[in-house]
Amino acid sequence: MKTHITHLRFGGDNCFVIEKDGHAVLVDTGRKATRERLLSALRPWNIKLILLTHGHFDHAYNAAFLAREFGAVVALHEADAALVRDNRIHTIDSRGLLGYFIKKASLANINRTHIEPFVPAFYLRGGQDLGCFGIDAQIIELPGHTAGSVGIIVGKKCIVGDTLMNMGGISRARIAEDFRAVSRSVESLKRTGAEVFYPGHGGPVSRKQLLKLFV
Ligand SMILES: [Zn+2]
Ligand SMILES: [Zn+2]
Repeated sequence: MKTHITHLRFGGDNCFVIEKDGHAVLVDTGRKATRERLLSALRPWNIKLILLTHGHFDHAYNAAFLAREFGAVVALHEADAALVRDNRIHTIDSRGLLGYFIKKASLANINRTHIEPFVPAFYLRGGQDLGCFGIDAQIIELPGHTAGSVGIIVGKKCIVGDTLMNMGGISRARIAEDFRAVSRSVESLKRTGAEVFYPGHGGPVSRKQLLKLFV
């Protein structure tokens, strides 16, 4: 069987299951309100690894809980290891009116959300191959939205976290720790050869849409 991605949507938030031959890896864990729906959606799979595209609450909130439920381990990039313990420690900038509102809503959430701590089993880094977890996938570093943002390349598909957004139109990250780094990461995405990109929020983005948007 080929490695397959299942896209799980909870309102505007996305989680993904990457599976091959009974091996399953969860990418991102949603926010507080998503917990029960995500847990029941995940019942068909035997999740052994939980990857976080970055340390924000709307991706990391349920990591510790799901790790316990499934007996899974959690991994993220080392540059987000402190951020995931406290989302308030890094400053976020915004771009555009929508970015302004996203930042405002995010900061309000950050201030009232406590992410249950967990100890990462290992750290993700660029070029890392996930073959030892039974799936054909590689990690790509995408710093900018957060310093430790990563994507996961699965054949011609790529999960990109919040480096891209598809809410109110396709765009690069509308909030970020470093927008210049976001631009470089979008360039890295173009070089992957992937045909479909899955953002952390909203529907998938085709390669054609990505190239058209950012030339
Ligand atoms: Zn984020
Ligand atoms: Zn997000």
